Amino acid sequence: MTVQRSPELIPRPPPFPPGTKLSEHYSVEGLVRLSEGRMFYLANDDRPDRPQKFCWECGCDDTPRAAASCVRCGANLGPRRFLISVRWETSGYEPYAAFFDKQLEHPGLVSPIDLFFQDGVLCSVTPWKGESLMLDEGSPLAMSQVMGLAQRAAGMLAFLQANGVRLAALGRANFLVCRDGQYVLFDPEVAQVYDGPVPDAHRSIEVAHLGAIMRRYTPVTALDVHDFFMAAEEGAYASPFAFGRALEDLLAGDISEPSVMVGAMSDVGLCRVLNEDNWGWIALQPGIHLFVVADGMGGHEAGEVASEMAVATICHVARERMRNLPDPSDEMLENILDEAFQTANNTIKDHSIRMGNDMGTTLVAALVRDDRLALVANVGDSRGYLLRQQVLHQISRDHSLVARMVEQNRLTAEEARNHPHSNILLRTVGTERDVEIDIFRVELEPGDQIFLNSDGLWGEVEDEDIEAILNHYPDPRVSCRELVRAAHHGGGRDNITVLVIQTPSG
Ligand code: CA
Repeated sequence: MTVQRSPELIPRPPPFPPGTKLSEHYSVEGLVRLSEGRMFYLANDDRPDRPQKFCWECGCDDTPRAAASCVRCGANLGPRRFLISVRWETSGYEPYAAFFDKQLEHPGLVSPIDLFFQDGVLCSVTPWKGESLMLDEGSPLAMSQVMGLAQRAAGMLAFLQANGVRLAALGRANFLVCRDGQYVLFDPEVAQVYDGPVPDAHRSIEVAHLGAIMRRYTPVTALDVHDFFMAAEEGAYASPFAFGRALEDLLAGDISEPSVMVGAMSDVGLCRVLNEDNWGWIALQPGIHLFVVADGMGGHEAGEVASEMAVATICHVARERMRNLPDPSDEMLENILDEAFQTANNTIKDHSIRMGNDMGTTLVAALVRDDRLALVANVGDSRGYLLRQQVLHQISRDHSLVARMVEQNRLTAEEARNHPHSNILLRTVGTERDVEIDIFRVELEPGDQIFLNSDGLWGEVEDEDIEAILNHYPDPRVSCRELVRAAHHGGGRDNITVLVIQTPSG
């Protein structure tokens, strides 16, 4: 018998405050984002504490502070900015350093220019030219962007493997969006570096991760492409090369730009550096789609894990149950939704016991069939709304203390909104063994919209403003962006996640 050790969690070190001097060249402007196992800082090389300026062009360190250009090569010495990634998981240090030593160059990869230790953490530096994080992108992307990104990423993964670099994971946090719209890999999580190419047996896992990323940005109605990435996610391709070749075949066919009826976006907000929300969508059968929004809790390495696990589990369970179920009845769909919630609940509960933390998540899901039926299910205070004939209706009921007090007429809706205990939830996914789920049936009419969101949206934006935005923008990608903008305008104190589902208007 083997005893399974729980994975070791190394606590996240305190962040470097703004102004911290790192290594010889960098001054921290601020922490811009936390992601699993890493902190991203923006830094510059404006260092009045140093008597000379460093030239990044020729490496000369002799230019006096007052001079504007390098005394040796004449290059402009205006301040430069950098993205510094800090990792504290010690097991990742050695492989990452081996990757750095290779100094690989590829158009799809931003290689680090500097690597050093400070206060026991490993700092990796890349020049910053105004790129943004792919984490902040809305979905879906245009089909041409999806295909371009998939091809480029497959080529880049094949290049890394040919050079002996095996990744531990590949996620959206590993991609930057350049100002010209191109996506580049940065700060990869390296598992191992080989002298020769990565052995064949280890070439498929990165393709599975890439498939999951790509599916998230693919319009859920583009069934062929969605299923192609789904197959990759489920391990159909043994290497990036095999994936790339199959992608070529797919591209040789007719890839049309589908009309976009669904949009989604998750935003970190204005006050936090970690996004613990998540969302997902999946085509279960032609005409049957599942949409999910989750808002995780339990602190770092818990909340964002719980919400991601919930979304992935729900989608996976629903897909498995639907696989051999031609033409399921509406009641069967309801059962599947219930079972998917229960499985997500137990999966998170098991994981939280292993990790010794108190992770949990809210969940709201919509299972939509043939644009005629929506089953909306929820636990917690992430919400499902219906927009019909331009009027917004809340479908789900919050499982929160203040919502109960409103139901008991002890608070008004307006008082509830600003109540100091508005964040206390009475039901969540992953905290107890059994969880009760509310399921609401909505018979859809042409032109209806279903809107799922986390409390970072409805806590900052009044219903009448949500209604106005949903009515005003016909493209769900635009309404998602405008809703996030409205939440920022309201304060942006929490993570914001929105998912808009439109039905054709007759
Ligand atoms: Ca929240």
